[in-house]
Amino acid sequence: MTTTLIDMAPAPWMTEGACQDEDPELFFPISSSEASAERARAICDGCQVRDECLRYALTNRIKDGIWGGRTEQQRQSLIRARRRRRLKVRTRP
Ligand code: SF4
Repeated sequence: MTTTLIDMAPAPWMTEGACQDEDPELFFPISSSEASAERARAICDGCQVRDECLRYALTNRIKDGIWGGRTEQQRQSLIRARRRRRLKVRTRP
């Protein structure tokens, strides 16, 4: 299931993010290049709710934007790595 921004209810930590006064375009760039994400990730690096933000994006399978300092591609990699770890645990004798 994919969650869109329209579906999301605001979570309490969202008002504490370091991105509150930043340009949303930084976090939802039109281009998905690494260079365009660099500034947003630098802001996320100093964010006090970074873990909550990333967890929220992973839990809700949010596709667009930079959350918790991770791009969509990086979040997909995290999800795949988690799946692989779960499969290994299940298949252990
Ligand atoms: S981790 Fe980044 S995107 Fe998430 S709330 Fe903090 S600054 Fe915003």
